[in-house]
Amino acid sequence: MNKHLKHPVFKIISEIISSQNIQAYVIGGFVRDIILKRPSNDIDIVVVGSGIELANMVADKIDKNVKVSVFKNFGTAMLRYKNFEIEFVGARKESYNRNSRKPIVEDGSLEDDQNRRDFTINALALSLNKENFGELSDPFNGLEDIKKKIIRTPLDSDITFSDDPLRMIRAIRFAAQLNFDIKPDALSSINKNKERIKIVSRERVNEELNKIVLSPKPSIGFKLLESTGLLEIIFPELYKLKGVEVKKGIRHKDNFYHTLDVLDNISVQTDKLWLRWAAILHDVGKPASKRFEDVHGWTFHGHEFIGYKMLPDIFRRLKFPMNEKMKYVQKLILLHMRPIVLSKEEITDSAIRRLLFEADEDIDDLMLLCDADITSKNPNRVKRFLKNFQIVRNKLKEIEEKDKIRNWQPPISGDEIIKVFNIKPSKIIGEIKTSIKDAILDGIIENNYDDAYQFMLKKGEELGLKPVKK
Ligand code: ATP
Ligand code: MG
Repeated sequence: MNKHLKHPVFKIISEIISSQNIQAYVIGGFVRDIILKRPSNDIDIVVVGSGIELANMVADKIDKNVKVSVFKNFGTAMLRYKNFEIEFVGARKESYNRNSRKPIVEDGSLEDDQNRRDFTINALALSLNKENFGELSDPFNGLEDIKKKIIRTPLDSDITFSDDPLRMIRAIRFAAQLNFDIKPDALSSINKNKERIKIVSRERVNEELNKIVLSPKPSIGFKLLESTGLLEIIFPELYKLKGVEVKKGIRHKDNFYHTLDVLDNISVQTDKLWLRWAAILHDVGKPASKRFEDVHGWTFHGHEFIGYKMLPDIFRRLKFPMNEKMKYVQKLILLHMRPIVLSKEEITDSAIRRLLFEADEDIDDLMLLCDADITSKNPNRVKRFLKNFQIVRNKLKEIEEKDKIRNWQPPISGDEIIKVFNIKPSKIIGEIKTSIKDAILDGIIENNYDDAYQFMLKKGEELGLKPVKK
């Protein structure tokens, strides 16, 4: 393992601990990721003694200017050195009480510290002590679990998950990130302890949830969240998409599994977190819009609009950012049916201009979402849909080159309208501006100042306004 401990910080730590006669180890994710050959930029050091003191000594040795961030309440300290975040913590023993995931902490040995780790694959430690530098300590056979691709808790999983229920979502997060299986008894412990997730703060849940969303095949994680019963508790709106109804022999597709297919599809194309969230939420309005009509069978008319309307409440409840990220997801939900509708009809230039105007800089993301939304199992249908979207894409490109609708700015400002007609700021200004915009999008006039000016004069006249003579 020595060859993996090349970062200069390891040698520095080794020298300090040897002169101080204390023991320290690299532990957890960094060691696991060495074995998995995954890149990682944070190093966790466990010290049998004080983590804060060791961090200060290391910083002194590197350079007096290295800043140590101390988290006194947690007894940890962190410093940055050569692109790595290095965290120091004293080895500890933990015991829990039922109403909190905050443990009662005592000083402990390396073994105590490994016992409190969440999974066997996260309990591996490499010695930094001079006499056995690089030696692996693996009390729970974590190495073998990595080989077998298994997530397993070091101790009784009922206790592990009940002590700190966040570990339930972490188990699922590692299963999704690494494509590992959770051991069946651990899986049933999650099911048994699922209600305890309620004592975990939403922020911590989201941190893990976002790691699931960003994993290579996120459906793995969401299927586990569903089968363990956690999904219904932490994300009921998504859970409600599950299920199939049959009437008069007609069934609709299961929108939960459809959504997961869309999410996996888009994840092949993008690592953008909020675009992936748009895929997760694109059909969230379906349950509320579901109808059975004798002529058409199952319909979900207006689900994109209902989903758009539902989003602020969902974001508030999930403690997601209520800012431009939400607006972005909302926009993609609202527009996700438009290219499909367009591809079914004769495409008019004005419909394309409207779409460009509304999607604006997010048009490419919208088209990615639409491609991902094709989840038919019939290869001929898939081919046909993709071909139709290509036609829409070509048309978007052609119109954009001609009319420059993206990042559109009104060619005539409100101030200019006020001056030209010598009127006070009022609703009428907005009306004229909107009519100019519509005229451009509908292709009545070109997207330039002179045409817009003439159109403004005409519109003003219709509204009984007279331009001031120059
Ligand atoms: P990554 O950083 O790649 O997301 P990681 O395994 O390093 O994965 P961290 O959250 O950085 O995860 O935690 C570092 C280590 O601390 C883990 O490997 C594990 O040993 C331990 N750990 C983290 N959270 C818990 C927890 N809730 N319960 C027990 N041990 C934990
Ligand atoms: Mg880490």
